[in-house]
Amino acid sequence: MKRVLIIHTGGTISMLENKETGEVNSTEMHPLTAVSDQLKLYAEIDEHILFDLPSPQITPKHMLELAKKINEVIETYDGIIVTHGTDTLEETAYFLDLVLHTNKPVILTGAMRSSNEIGSDALYNLISSLRVTIQDEAKSNGVLVVMNDEIHTAENVTKTSTSNVATFQSPQFGPIGMVTKDSIIFHRTVLSHPTHPIKDISKKVFLLKAYAGMDDHLLHAIKAANPDGLVIEGLGQGNLPKTTVEPLQKMIAENIPVILVSRCYQGVVQPTYGYDGGGKQLKEMGVIFARGVSGPKARIKLLIALEKTQNLKVLKDLFEI
Ligand code: ASP
Repeated sequence: MKRVLIIHTGGTISMLENKETGEVNSTEMHPLTAVSDQLKLYAEIDEHILFDLPSPQITPKHMLELAKKINEVIETYDGIIVTHGTDTLEETAYFLDLVLHTNKPVILTGAMRSSNEIGSDALYNLISSLRVTIQDEAKSNGVLVVMNDEIHTAENVTKTSTSNVATFQSPQFGPIGMVTKDSIIFHRTVLSHPTHPIKDISKKVFLLKAYAGMDDHLLHAIKAANPDGLVIEGLGQGNLPKTTVEPLQKMIAENIPVILVSRCYQGVVQPTYGYDGGGKQLKEMGVIFARGVSGPKARIKLLIALEKTQNLKVLKDLFEI
C-alpha cells in the first residue's frame, strides 16, 4: 500500500456547522479525523494539522511554511494531500507548484459544505484526492487540485462560484482529468513545469484591477507604500486607461516591476493596440506581460521571483514564456 500524508490547514473542510445558528466554524477536533478509517482502504495514512485557519487568513508566509513542511517529509511518503479553505486555495496551490521540486503527487482539496451539512463534499473530496494521489499518472504534473470529481492544474484552476460545489474550474484549458466511481482518468499531462525553490518570502507586491475611468490616485498611493512590484489586471488583451501611463512609467524607471495580466478570465495579454495606454505602448515602456495566469497568481509568481532577482530583464524572461 502507498503511504500518504494529509496536511490540514483549515477552511470549511476542517469546520462544522452550528445547527442552531447556521454559522460554520472550526471545532476542537478535526471532523475528518473521525472518519479516517474510510481512508485506510486506499493507502496508509498519516495526518498532520499544520494550521487551523480560514483561508482568507492564509498568507504567503503560511504558504512557505507549508512548502517547507512538505519538503521535510516528501521522501517518506508517496504523495501529499493538503486540505485548505477554498477562498485562497488556488493561490496556495500555485505557490506550491512554483516552489516544490518533486515529481510526487501533491494535491490540494477543500469543501464548499462542511462535514455535517447536508450534501457535504468534505469527505467525498478528500477520498477523491486520495484516489488520485495513489495513481502513478498523478506524478510529474505539478501540484493538482481535486474537487467535485475533477482534477485541475494549479496554474489553471480558479474558484468561480461563491457557493456551488462545482466552483473550481480551469477556464483556459479545462480540467486535466476526472474522477469517476471506478476510475481516475487523465486527459492530458503538463508539458513543462519549471520550479523556483526559495528560502524566504519577504517582498511587498500589490495587485490592482483596471476599470473604466480609472485615474492615477491608486497608483500614487501604491508608489507611496514603497512596493517591490505591482501586478495589474488590465482590460481585454492588455490595455489600460491612459491616465495610468505616467505613474507606471515612473515606477518602471525606479526598477519596480509592473506585471500585466488581463481581467478577462480566458486568453492571454498581447501588445496589439498602439493608442495611449494600449498594450503596444505599455510593452514598449517596459511593462511585463504575464502569459495566461490570473492576477492573484501573477502576484504569487512575482513574490517568488523577487526572492531570486530584481533584474527587470530576468523577470521579463520568467513571465513572458
Ligand atoms: N471561507 C472558507 C475558506 O476559504 C471557504 C471554504 O473553505 O470553502 O476558508
